[in-house]
Amino acid sequence: DTVALGTVTNNAVAASAVLVQQQQHRRLEGKVAIVTGGARGIGEAIVRAFVRQGARVVIADIDGAAGEALAAALGGACCSYVHCDVSVEADVERAVGCCVARHGRLDVLCNNAGVLGRQAPPAGNGARSGGIASLDATEFDRVLRVNTLGAALGMKHAARAMLQSRGGGGSIVSVASVAGVLGGMGPHAYTASKHALVGLTKNAACELGEHGIRVNCVSPFGVATPMLVNAWRHGADEEGGSPAPVSAEEVEKAEEMVRGMATLKGPTLRAGDIAEAALFLASDESRYISGHNLVVDGGATTSKNVIG
Ligand code: NAD
Repeated sequence: DTVALGTVTNNAVAASAVLVQQQQHRRLEGKVAIVTGGARGIGEAIVRAFVRQGARVVIADIDGAAGEALAAALGGACCSYVHCDVSVEADVERAVGCCVARHGRLDVLCNNAGVLGRQAPPAGNGARSGGIASLDATEFDRVLRVNTLGAALGMKHAARAMLQSRGGGGSIVSVASVAGVLGGMGPHAYTASKHALVGLTKNAACELGEHGIRVNCVSPFGVATPMLVNAWRHGADEEGGSPAPVSAEEVEKAEEMVRGMATLKGPTLRAGDIAEAALFLASDESRYISGHNLVVDGGATTSKNVIG
């Protein structure tokens, strides 16, 4: 009996040592990351997850009030804000420069900033609102500049910084969309911009692999952020800045619609689920994964029933 008791006690001690080790192991310990569009929504969840896992994070966004408030809440030493419109190259270059000046290196870039785009009113000739026959060229250009060019500029300056500050290696994770995989999931410009982002990810992965830099993307299904709720409410996005307030009731309604389309029944897709996928791709746990598009959709895009 004494021997048996001793074995049980030893097992318990070993198990608690493993638990303590697991609790102490943080998945981005020592890493430095930039998260674009990190002031709210999915980006905010990514920032919170990265900081929780030991990273020092620079939020690069156009919403100064929200970005500064989030950085202050997470603690100035591990999180800071820099103004950056990702569609303006000088801003992107400056954000990467600020990060390297502040922390000495860049290990992870998360290209999350994105806009849905406003739907043009009906053209008056039978063309429906948001239809291809009502396409607004200026708006099309704006969406591609933020969602696609913005990510490309991020890759450009991050790759340079990763080579210079750490001699290669690093991880670039972009937030694409299921609209980058299937048609009929969003406005035309948005769909084109996200398909382009998935393609860009593959191309950059082919090229930057030589330097040990991994390039991947995450493609969320519907997450009830201000972007999605406002889109379903107005058929329009907010062009950055402060979004119109979203009620708990509207969030619940949006989540219910998304739950109805997923083949996986039970959980509700939340920003934190996208953050977990981005965290995996940012960390060394995915060290042999590059050029991949990780779809987070509860099986929706695998179902023939998803659209309509
Ligand atoms: P959101 O509108 O709630 O947040 C977007 C953030 O990006 C805001 O902080 C905004 O200020 C910032 N931003 C906008 N334009 C910018 C610019 N030019 N430069 C820098 N920052 C800018 O949106 P969200 O739902 O959290 O979306 C985040 C990403 O996830 C986007 O790329 C979006 O396309 C993608 N996505 C969202 C969903 C969804 O259902 N919410 C689904 C698929 C993909």
